[in-house]
Amino acid sequence: MDVSNPSLVVECPHCGLMTARFVDHCRNCGYKLWPSGVMASAAFKAWQAVDPEPRSEVSRFDTDYPVHIDDVVDYEARAHKLGIHISPPSNWPFTICFGLFFLALAAIPIAATPRIVLAVIGGVIFLWGVVGWVVIDDTRMFPTEGAESEVHH
Ligand SMILES: [Zn+2]
Repeated sequence: MDVSNPSLVVECPHCGLMTARFVDHCRNCGYKLWPSGVMASAAFKAWQAVDPEPRSEVSRFDTDYPVHIDDVVDYEARAHKLGIHISPPSNWPFTICFGLFFLALAAIPIAATPRIVLAVIGGVIFLWGVVGWVVIDDTRMFPTEGAESEVHH
């Protein structure tokens, strides 16, 4: 076997079509290319070891090397260009929803005392979330904007 050949495909001697080089049977006609799957796998490992950098990315069932396309989109930059304001990422909405969950439980018509307790717990968590999101996060994200808005209002 020629380990220096980087090709992942081989021409089947039986049907003449291209098939995966390190799979023991031809994919098109089933012709046995390797004496066993174990041998094909061992040959593949030996072939990979010769040039591990690109060859470690493929499996022996592949017929092509993976193509890396840089398709990362910077949505923040795009939104800025289009004049759309995106609020900064924040975990506070989860806190607010957690508080709303207790407030919703307090809405169930059960005995008054547990309802009041649930309402207080929910209200505290809810307000904590709102304060965290609006006051802490916003002033950290927009330090000058926050100071200016205080002057204008
Ligand atoms: Zn074949």
